Amino acid sequence: MSITPSAAPPSLSYELYPPVNRDATEGVFNSIEALQATNPDYVSVTYSGTHARRRASLELIEHLIQNTRLRPLAHLTCVGESRQSLENLIRHFISLGVRGVLALRGDLPTDPDGWRGEFPFARYLIELIREVETEHSAALAGGRLGVGVAAYPIQHPESPSFEHDVEVLLAKERSGANYAITQVYFRPEEYTNLVDAARRAGVGIPIIPGVIPLNSLKRLNRLASMTGVEPDPILAHALETASSDAERHYIGVNAAVTLARRAFDDGAPGVHLYTFNDHRGSLDVIERLELPRTRAQVSNSWAARAAV
Ligand code: FAD
Repeated sequence: MSITPSAAPPSLSYELYPPVNRDATEGVFNSIEALQATNPDYVSVTYSGTHARRRASLELIEHLIQNTRLRPLAHLTCVGESRQSLENLIRHFISLGVRGVLALRGDLPTDPDGWRGEFPFARYLIELIREVETEHSAALAGGRLGVGVAAYPIQHPESPSFEHDVEVLLAKERSGANYAITQVYFRPEEYTNLVDAARRAGVGIPIIPGVIPLNSLKRLNRLASMTGVEPDPILAHALETASSDAERHYIGVNAAVTLARRAFDDGAPGVHLYTFNDHRGSLDVIERLELPRTRAQVSNSWAARAAV
């Protein structure tokens, strides 16, 4: 299914990490309350790490469904998993009421002998999701799950080239992906280049820029080691030499606003904010972007109709 976002209001979404202790849980619940007031189309929940962290993802999704009016986008990774365990998870998501999944491979085990699972690439997970959902057509009211995937403005660390990444994105669309969210990037032209290259290669799905307001050098460096994306030296220098938390906050928000504005100018169908479970920067970004957020507009956005 190809979705044409033109003329629809831009989508707005946030990414949350599952909390692993009581303090973190309180922090995430506060963020959820604050973010809910902006009527996002969906809130995505990351999935990775230890068994406890993965269980925390499922609990956070359950919390969003049962106690809020936010719609969750469940991240799901296939690395190190068996077909059976993935089928069970997809069925579990459907029974919880999840209608949107971000299908990912996940990061490879650092141990070279570590089991990589039965699905080496995300596209096989997408195919599995499409297989499992057909068994549940009654529960899904004849509809389908919205399936999102990752896209890379900067060459994926394991990829031989940027062009290869674009081919992989096309393969993921052909396997059944409805839209893509980008990895972080720091220069506006990196998003535009990706969209141009993807369209030339025949990719038709919406590609949503993933943007992060960073308020510390420590976070910037942590992000770089998590994603393999080199920290931007200008942003790094500005964060390092800023004299107060307020100045660092402003620098991070400003950088994120610049990226999102340029992406919108170049036709982006929405924006996805990586929150690091700190809602303040994200709220300032969307206020500065003057994103119109009324319930009516949310229910009309392409994401509300198709992504979750
Ligand atoms: P794939 O699309 O399978 O690509 C992985 C690598 O394999 C790439 O280098 C690609 O070029 C190559 N490749 C793919 N297909 C082929 C093929 N047929 N032949 C040869 N090479 C191929 N990680 C988590 O663990 N949990 C999360 O919750 C999470 N959320 C994320 C959210 C977003 C928006 C993004 C952008 C990333 C997220 N990640 C998450 C990180 C992601 O799992 C990693 O970037 C991972 O290394 C690749 O995942 P992928 O789905 O892009 O994999």
